[in-house]
Amino acid sequence: MKNQQILRLTQKYVANTYARFPIALVQGKGARVWDADGKEYIDFVAGIAVNGLGHNHPAIVRAIQRQAQTLIHVSNLYHIGPQSELARDLCRHSFANRVFFCNSGAEANEAAFKLARRYGAEHLGGKYEILSALNSFHGRTLATLTATGQEKVRRGFDPLPPGFRLVPYNDLRAVDRAIGEKTVAILVEPIQGEGGVVLPAEGYLEGLRELCNTKGILLIFDEVQVGMGRTGKLFAYEHFGVEPDIMTLAKALGGGLPVGAMLAKDYVADSFVPGTHASTFGGNPLVCSVGLAVLNTLLKKGVLRNCVKMGKILFEGLQSLKGRFRFIREIRGKGLILGMEVERDGGKIVAECLQEGLLITCAGNNNVLRFLPPLTIGRRDIDRGLTILEKVLSHQ
Ligand SMILES: *Cc1c(COP(=O)(O)O)cnc(C)c1O
Repeated sequence: MKNQQILRLTQKYVANTYARFPIALVQGKGARVWDADGKEYIDFVAGIAVNGLGHNHPAIVRAIQRQAQTLIHVSNLYHIGPQSELARDLCRHSFANRVFFCNSGAEANEAAFKLARRYGAEHLGGKYEILSALNSFHGRTLATLTATGQEKVRRGFDPLPPGFRLVPYNDLRAVDRAIGEKTVAILVEPIQGEGGVVLPAEGYLEGLRELCNTKGILLIFDEVQVGMGRTGKLFAYEHFGVEPDIMTLAKALGGGLPVGAMLAKDYVADSFVPGTHASTFGGNPLVCSVGLAVLNTLLKKGVLRNCVKMGKILFEGLQSLKGRFRFIREIRGKGLILGMEVERDGGKIVAECLQEGLLITCAGNNNVLRFLPPLTIGRRDIDRGLTILEKVLSHQ
């Protein structure tokens, strides 16, 4: 099928929840993808930070083939080898002692909310409230959209579940004031992704940790977008020397297969006992085998080093564009999650880049161009992307 045929089917039969670009992607390799008419694109979206190892990475393909021939799914009624190994390896390389597996970022956050509430019920006299940040993004389920600090995500879904409250990001004093008798946890993205690649202010995450310690409540990091190597370290919190009590992962964890995970310290994780939470698909043999392949590749093969190196080259390239075009306000980010804030219609720039063969996305208030190439990308593809971007920006 060609682009047009696929578009017509989508428009007729698929729920109308996305403003999709008018192409269908049918093939990928590394940092390049092709649409159904055969046109090639440089991919600075990577499935919204999902394809961390790029498209069709041999380690992922091999893991899928091998596990699919052996055992795809059983159920969590039984022990699952690849799940226990992936949990062990995530714990070995993080602050955590235990992992709960699910299928998406929203579900990982739901698990975090449930665990925090159980912890509050057992240890903190029934505290339940979760504070989260304005401009944040945590998912589209009822609880996670309630924790999301963006009106456009929340509108039209009242009544929202109680027990959530929003406070400004990067404002320690506001958090301190907001912590109440019922507050059990503070939830933040260490770096806000959908909000427009917003970095934590100096001392902010450390301050949150101190506040949580003082009040005896939990700190939850949502690393669904910035975890699994995206910032040049395996987890973003490592940049700031602050450990959470709970962390959520998804996007890049499964290399393109749907895997979410909630990681926690023992003293919190102990509040989950048999019967308190579950997921039919969560952590099945296939997705966990692939998760293991992703994690091993990230740890062994110089991928993180490449991310730092390419991130620097892309950052400098974007900086030099900022020098040329006065409507560019700021370049920011870490590793290979970078944002360019513009005083222009970001959506129009994104659409024109697509025309020219470069995939990027918009974040924030439609005013931040976001760059999330595969962590394995090479210099040539970075340069090609920058060349296309420069051409598009010069028409704005
Ligand atoms: C994408 C994202 C989510 C939601 O993940 P889904 O898999 O779409 O449910 C949650 N938190 C952050 C920070 C994200 O970027």
